Amino acid sequence: MTGDGTRAVHGPARRAVAQEPLTPPVYRTATFVLDSAQQTADVFAGKESGWTYSRTDNPTSQAFADAVAYLEDPSGVAVGQPFGSGMAAITCTLLALCSAGSHVVAPQEVYGGTWALLTRQLSRFGIETSFVDGTDLEAVRAALRPETAVLWGEVLANPSMTVADLPALSQIARDAGIPFAVDATFASPVVCRPLEHGVDLVVHSATKYLGGHADATGGVVVGPTALLERIRTVRVDTGATLAPDEAALLSRGLATLPLRVTRQCTTAAIVAQALAADPRVARVDHPSLPSHRDHELAKRLFAPSLYGAVVTVSPAGGREAGMAMIDRLELVKRATSLGGTTSKAVHVPTTTHVAMDDVTLAAAGILPSAVRVSIGLEDPEDLVADLLQALGEG
Ligand SMILES: *Cc1c(COP(=O)(O)O)cnc(C)c1O
Repeated sequence: MTGDGTRAVHGPARRAVAQEPLTPPVYRTATFVLDSAQQTADVFAGKESGWTYSRTDNPTSQAFADAVAYLEDPSGVAVGQPFGSGMAAITCTLLALCSAGSHVVAPQEVYGGTWALLTRQLSRFGIETSFVDGTDLEAVRAALRPETAVLWGEVLANPSMTVADLPALSQIARDAGIPFAVDATFASPVVCRPLEHGVDLVVHSATKYLGGHADATGGVVVGPTALLERIRTVRVDTGATLAPDEAALLSRGLATLPLRVTRQCTTAAIVAQALAADPRVARVDHPSLPSHRDHELAKRLFAPSLYGAVVTVSPAGGREAGMAMIDRLELVKRATSLGGTTSKAVHVPTTTHVAMDDVTLAAAGILPSAVRVSIGLEDPEDLVADLLQALGEG
């Protein structure tokens, strides 16, 4: 081993350490070394476990998904699959459950990216979606067809913070013999563990609370082995994989998830109460408030005193009132997304819901002034002060 090229490639930089490091190493590798031709054949044939190629499976990425599965199901039965983004997780889940001619039932209030996937992409492949009022159980039941392949839901809807009646919706799906999949991004397993309420598949954008620091993009799906094996196959075939560097950041976030989300939810309830008491505010949407339509349902399904950490505040007035509130913010950042350490706000009708006009917004229960605030880890008093001063003269 004397040539420069050989020494550069095979030198001590490749050395692995046998001792366990406190923090797991990041397996930033595209492929894995196997012991023999026979072992390689056995691993490729699935007769022996082993790592082959990181688009297929990577230990750092899989560890993240396993860790989320363990949070969603402390009994350790559910398994998880890692994805490069929340939308990658949603795409692979729907592709695994649907074929040409399949039908999907999803809530009207579904996350914009999921709506776009269903209406712009999957529709081109003969997959049709009925969007129904997810709080109207009879409407959900009536929308089901013999070819309905999945019932889709969201634990907490954006930006109304509507709570899905998970036990009732699971029963509807069970009666129809189809899986019930929910996007639990806004809740996180600290607020709600949907599998305990009869849900079959839990999907997250890990970019939000799970990672928690707004520095990594990822997604995860958790559920029973048989369904997850089908979803994994779609992930492998489409290449929707989670990179190990991102996975390591997301896993670091998970260690503080309960601390962060508990604090964020507590602060959100304080903020919601302060805003709701202000005469310059037309409406506040947060399930901690007894005035929220799903306050009682949230108490039944969620961890004690935790109601999520997104607060939607609609100042009195129209679109200008909401945009002016955004412009007056000093501490809260003008930025989309949620779940990070930094509080962020967007004017809903001109950002996340820009595809809707005022009539469609009204039908969805969204006021033209609506401002969605993702509560971070700042002190509650400072956030209340900033949001109140941002209401201006009213
Ligand atoms: C952000 C988000 C997604 C999409 O996740 P990405 O990581 O951005 O792909 C899906 N569902 C909900 C509810 C979200 O908030």
